[in-house]
Amino acid sequence: MPNVLVSGASVAGPALAYWLGRGGWDVTVVERFERLRDGGQNVDVRGAGREVVRRMGLEDAALAAGTGETGTEIVDDSGRSLAYAPQGGGDSDGWTADMEILRGELSRLLHDRSAEHARYVFGDEITALDDRDGGVDVTFRGGGQERFDVVVLAEGLSSRTRDLVFPGVRPRHLGLCMAYLTIPRTSADNDRWRWYQAGAGRTATLRPDNTGTIRATLSFLTDARGLEDLTPSDQAHVLRRTFHDAAWEVPRVLDALDTAPFYFESTGQVRLPAWSRGRIALLGDAAYCASPLSGMGTTLALTGAYVLAGQLTTNPHAAAFAHYERVMRPYVVKAQHLPPGTPRLAHPRTPLGVRSLRTAAKLATSPPARTLTRLTRRVPAPAEKFTLPDHPSPGR
Ligand SMILES: Cc1cc2nc3c(=O)[nH]c(=O)nc-3n(C[C@H](O)[C@H](O)[C@H](O)COP(=O)(O)OP(=O)(O)OC[C@H]3O[C@@H](n4cnc5c(N)ncnc54)[C@H](O)[C@@H]3O)c2cc1C
Repeated sequence: MPNVLVSGASVAGPALAYWLGRGGWDVTVVERFERLRDGGQNVDVRGAGREVVRRMGLEDAALAAGTGETGTEIVDDSGRSLAYAPQGGGDSDGWTADMEILRGELSRLLHDRSAEHARYVFGDEITALDDRDGGVDVTFRGGGQERFDVVVLAEGLSSRTRDLVFPGVRPRHLGLCMAYLTIPRTSADNDRWRWYQAGAGRTATLRPDNTGTIRATLSFLTDARGLEDLTPSDQAHVLRRTFHDAAWEVPRVLDALDTAPFYFESTGQVRLPAWSRGRIALLGDAAYCASPLSGMGTTLALTGAYVLAGQLTTNPHAAAFAHYERVMRPYVVKAQHLPPGTPRLAHPRTPLGVRSLRTAAKLATSPPARTLTRLTRRVPAPAEKFTLPDHPSPGR
């Protein structure tokens, strides 16, 4: 039985573990953190990604684990609603989709579904990889050593192990930093995704969740590099300084920085000329992060896992990796093509820019302008046009 090491247990890793495990592979998943991470907000699962969830038998569970978000609105300094778009109907429509699930909840569902087919190791990570003589010798931080037929890195945007295989890869920064916080829910909250433009390139949002808390983001345009590598307390300092004079619920979010765990990222994309070397392949954000601004990261991760597993269970690794890349690359290229003006348009710098965005949002959400709303939705429609291959895959 061939064996595989998958590094990273968020979305791409567990999805791959499931499909390979079902296909008769001996699967080990290693995750750097001590447990599944529950940080972050809702993720978009659309088009082909939704189909993968369906084929895993998880669609009902994912819908049942939804956040209960009913729509999206733009608010002013005092929280007054300026524009409102209700939840979309199909799996590709609207700012608020019909499947709105927290990344952590989706990760848990994928993990639980794959757990009977894979061995999970938490709190460890790869420190060395030696691809030779028909296998990969892996050394772990915890001291273990093991040989695998194939290694797949699904470690996200800032994958460190990727450096061992593709030295010097740096994500392309998009000029926007984002902090995701989970904060206490108060009576001032509702079940809408509320957006507030604070000017000076800053935006804050609040979203309901299904765990009794509120998911907040603070995002800001910046040319500064390396903020994602600062300590959490230094990142909190940067956020306080950047948002010190912002109105609406921003002071409440800043207050929560002392107690709420948060996830900070410098949004970026990963564009690589190849996604594998020898017996080691990259998957999901580690290979082709499209950024949260694309709304496609989770969909690409799920789709890539499905395609890669289908190939590995039917072909030798070299042909499988080549085919995985041939099938996925055009889809990834479309998904990484962000609408012009992203992220600046949603983060206006001047009062005039803020007023213009609010006016545009009012127009886009008014009943006669539903067509315009479709044009302004976050997901680039062409990127959804991907038909999942019907490979003789396990589990179907
Ligand atoms: C905590 C967290 C919160 C997020 N929040 C959002 C959000 O709110 N909105 C959004 O659009 N996207 C969010 N994302 C990103 C989103 O999950 C991905 O864009 C998408 O789902 C693709 O997933 P992925 O599995 O490829 O990568 P990721 O989801 O980034 O997962 C990578 C996994 O690999 C693990 N890992 C990293 N390095 C190592 C290592 N050296 N060894 C072993 N394991 C390692 C990480 O801990 C993580 O579990 C978040 C990611 C994380 C990790």
